[in-house]
Amino acid sequence: MARNGRSVEDELRPLVDRFLAQVARVMERHVTQEVRRRLLDEVRERLGDGARPGRSSRRPAVTCYFPGCRNLAAPRFGMFCAALHKDLPAAQKAKHRAQHSAR
Ligand SMILES: [Zn+2]
Repeated sequence: MARNGRSVEDELRPLVDRFLAQVARVMERHVTQEVRRRLLDEVRERLGDGARPGRSSRRPAVTCYFPGCRNLAAPRFGMFCAALHKDLPAAQKAKHRAQHSAR
């Protein structure tokens, strides 16, 4: 099958190598951006807005109303975290909400 001593594989290999190198570069750029974005989000969530007065964020970080819980609150669950406290009885949620707004 080989013409002039070069097989199809030999002719394609440089192209494929270049293509893969390009793909790797693009992937790397995107992954780097994605990782940076997630890290920033994480940091913002941990710090919350109170830690950075004078700066507004597009998504205010509110922590779970359960005392001492540092998880992010989910408005869908009455401002309790989805991880631990979303299934609290309604009465208990009401109590913690009252304590929260009293602070
Ligand atoms: Zn919680």
